[in-house]
Amino acid sequence: MSGLVIIGASYAGVQAGISAREKGYTAPIRIVADEIHLPYQRPPLSKGFLSGSVTHSNLFLRGDDYFKAQNIEMVLGHRAVRIDRDANTVELEGGERLAFDHLLIATGSRARQLAVPGAAEADIVYLRTLDHAVNLKPRLEAAEAVVIIGGGFIGLEVAATAAKAGKKVVMIEAVSRLLERAVSPLISQFLLDMHVSHGVDIRFHQSVVAIENHGALHEVVCSNGDRVRGDLIIAGIGGIANDELAATAGVLCNNGIDVDDYGQTNIPNIYAAGDVTNHHNIFAGRRVRLESVQNATDQGKSAGFAIAGHPEPYVAVPRFWSDQYDAKLQIVGLSGPDDTAVIRGAMSDGKFSVFYYRDARLMAVDSINRPGDQMIARRLIGASLSPTPEQAADLAFDLKKVEAA
Ligand SMILES: Cc1cc2nc3c(=O)[nH]c(=O)nc-3n(C[C@H](O)[C@H](O)[C@H](O)COP(=O)(O)OP(=O)(O)OC[C@H]3O[C@@H](n4cnc5c(N)ncnc54)[C@H](O)[C@@H]3O)c2cc1C
Repeated sequence: MSGLVIIGASYAGVQAGISAREKGYTAPIRIVADEIHLPYQRPPLSKGFLSGSVTHSNLFLRGDDYFKAQNIEMVLGHRAVRIDRDANTVELEGGERLAFDHLLIATGSRARQLAVPGAAEADIVYLRTLDHAVNLKPRLEAAEAVVIIGGGFIGLEVAATAAKAGKKVVMIEAVSRLLERAVSPLISQFLLDMHVSHGVDIRFHQSVVAIENHGALHEVVCSNGDRVRGDLIIAGIGGIANDELAATAGVLCNNGIDVDDYGQTNIPNIYAAGDVTNHHNIFAGRRVRLESVQNATDQGKSAGFAIAGHPEPYVAVPRFWSDQYDAKLQIVGLSGPDDTAVIRGAMSDGKFSVFYYRDARLMAVDSINRPGDQMIARRLIGASLSPTPEQAADLAFDLKKVEAA
């Protein structure tokens, strides 16, 4: 028995291995990873790890002993370069081949690189891996002027850490507001005000057209002709699915590997989970590729169960969070640009939630420092229950009382 080979040792891959064992998969399980580290948490890399509140040793998801006890072999520091779906083998860099009965592809995503003149020479920092964060931390501490390209989650979290450390921070964003694809204009505005109050200079409607390098100093040239100087440039301009390995092997991909509710691809014994996949999400009503710990973990679990012969569909409500200064942003569900937004609480207190409605249906809730709303919203959205917009807006109304109409 060749057993299960998992490519990628992060949330999705590790969870799939654990879940397969939990459901009685007794054949060998091997997890292949190009990174040399034991599986670790990525979210703190742009949050507590950078600011110093989370240390290197606090990052690891599981220790070596755990994997040994589970009889899961970790093949660290080895990149998978080819999948032979007829021979059922994975080839590693260096030529070694691992045979499999089942394969799980959990190769995640990578940081999109800035492709403008001068970018390659500018030593731009991208933040995706522990090695990136270890490289960034001392450079951020030493920097005076930081230029952040992209007003997404990673850019904003790094901006918060840099601003709190007293750095001069300029953020360049191509569109008209922060986190445009993830949150409503209300949350974008709240975050903008918060960053501006901490001294971050945010410039909208600017794309970067070139980077000029003058020794340790760089000049970021914007589309309107502005030149922004910095001794550290960080780009957070989105993620790209690492699906090339799968696509080359004939696994169906379309901005990520196409999987069903069990993490199965178009090839019966090949599964995929996490950032590298796209799936039909019942809470969104369409196919989506999500980049979140929740998605990677829950999808990994479904795939592991299916591989062990105990299929359970992936139907978890999508969740995400971000920490910036004293604000904890939590998101449950998936909102769309045309949804109606209803506020619960007071934005001026820095404690409020935004409820998103499509027709009369509650689709998503974003909360700033209101974790209780998130707990309830998760249950409501999961059960297709919707308070009326009036109830959502009324702090005196107990959302736990919402029942099916
Ligand atoms: C800085 C940062 C902050 C984040 N903050 C949050 C947050 O607050 N909340 C949240 O929900 N999510 C957050 N995320 C997103 C979250 O970390 C990802 O969604 C999650 O890590 C996805 O897990 P995964 O297992 O799908 O893939 P990944 O974590 O991307 O892991 C994939 C692994 O596979 C490896 N790999 C790729 N190709 C190969 C190959 N050919 N051979 C061998 N190995 C390979 C990769 O190197 C990587 O180690 C953050 C991400 C980053 C980078």
